[in-house]
Amino acid sequence: MTTTAISYAAHAAKAPLERTEISRRDPGPTDVAIDIDYSGICHSDIHTVRDEWGAATYPVVPGHEIIGTVTAVGGDVTRFAPGDRVGVGVIVESCRACESCLAGEENYCARGPVGTYGGLLASGEFTQGGYATSIVTDDHFVYRIPGALDPAAAAPLLCAGITTYSPLRHWEAGPGTRVAIIGLGGLGHLGVKFAAALGAEVTVLSQSLSKRDAGLAMGASDYFATSDRETFRKNRRRFDLVINTVSANLDLNDYLRMVAKDGTFVEVGLPEHPLSVTGQSLVNGRVSLSGSMIGGVPETQQMLDFAGEHGITADIELIPASEINTAFDRVVASDVRFRFVIDMASLR
Ligand code: NAP
Ligand code: ZN
Ligand code: ZN
Repeated sequence: MTTTAISYAAHAAKAPLERTEISRRDPGPTDVAIDIDYSGICHSDIHTVRDEWGAATYPVVPGHEIIGTVTAVGGDVTRFAPGDRVGVGVIVESCRACESCLAGEENYCARGPVGTYGGLLASGEFTQGGYATSIVTDDHFVYRIPGALDPAAAAPLLCAGITTYSPLRHWEAGPGTRVAIIGLGGLGHLGVKFAAALGAEVTVLSQSLSKRDAGLAMGASDYFATSDRETFRKNRRRFDLVINTVSANLDLNDYLRMVAKDGTFVEVGLPEHPLSVTGQSLVNGRVSLSGSMIGGVPETQQMLDFAGEHGITADIELIPASEINTAFDRVVASDVRFRFVIDMASLR
């Protein structure tokens, strides 16, 4: 037995997404059935649909920034009940037995976590994501959403939020730390808000100064255009922690020179082509080059609770599903302030 959901699916690489019916399984003992209210558009959805990472399987329904309302729960589920407002993020299954999973870092599961879309569950089911009217998923990967947060604006916390919060916490951003965020898009603007709420001094490195007022209002104290070569000279060896959220390939060597001695450059962007770094960029200043992928289940809930306490949500443009394809083009053109969120009521 299954139920039918209305979704927006890509049927081939670079083809526009189209309204498509998909089926959802009936909830098993540990499952939660959710009517989706809002779904954020992450740049990873676009990389996937356009097959920029290779090996995409079609049709694919993207979407891993999901806010919805519980409609039914399996017999073993105790944490959720029908009517609860909940979230689903980037992963929906992991082995639950490896060292990472036992440490609550399911995102680094040794067997590989299963994505909310485009992934293969142990049951053999191919996952389809949140650009849909409903989803059924294991309760371990379902989150409570603080009531104080606007649900549509909270959706991007489930990927963009945790992806920036996790490295900020891991590298201990706080009072006295100088943090730079490269790219003021979906991830970047939440990174600025979280870093400021943690007490760090935050600088935005954006292509131009066109979003400067917004960036300063989010908590940045400095804002530079990377189109201006002076930016790189003025900020040489300045930042303890640099988080690169850019979806396209940058010359990282320029940016590594802005990392303070013994500081860390964290790549969270996943551009299409390999990154290139010279030895000099790493040995000068003894800088560390690292990466970070979303966050584990406990940290994701901690991030949501922190967002609730500090009133942090995304700045969004709410759109009907019929505008998804236009929104994709605008995201690629860096023309978004600062996250598109799909109003799933438009599909019902
Ligand atoms: P986004 O909203 O499109 O933001 C990316 C920002 O990068 C843009 O707003 C723009 O900021 C800047 N940018 C874009 N093209 C550029 C170019 N050619 N040169 C310089 N800057 C450019 O994307 P997002 O949803 O935040 O995702 C960002 C990246 O993170 C994507 O690659 C995505 O796949 C990846 N991601 C990774 C994880 C993870 O777990 N590591 C999780 C989610 C997403 P300005 O206009 O301010 O310059
Ligand atoms: Zn994402
Ligand atoms: Zn595991």
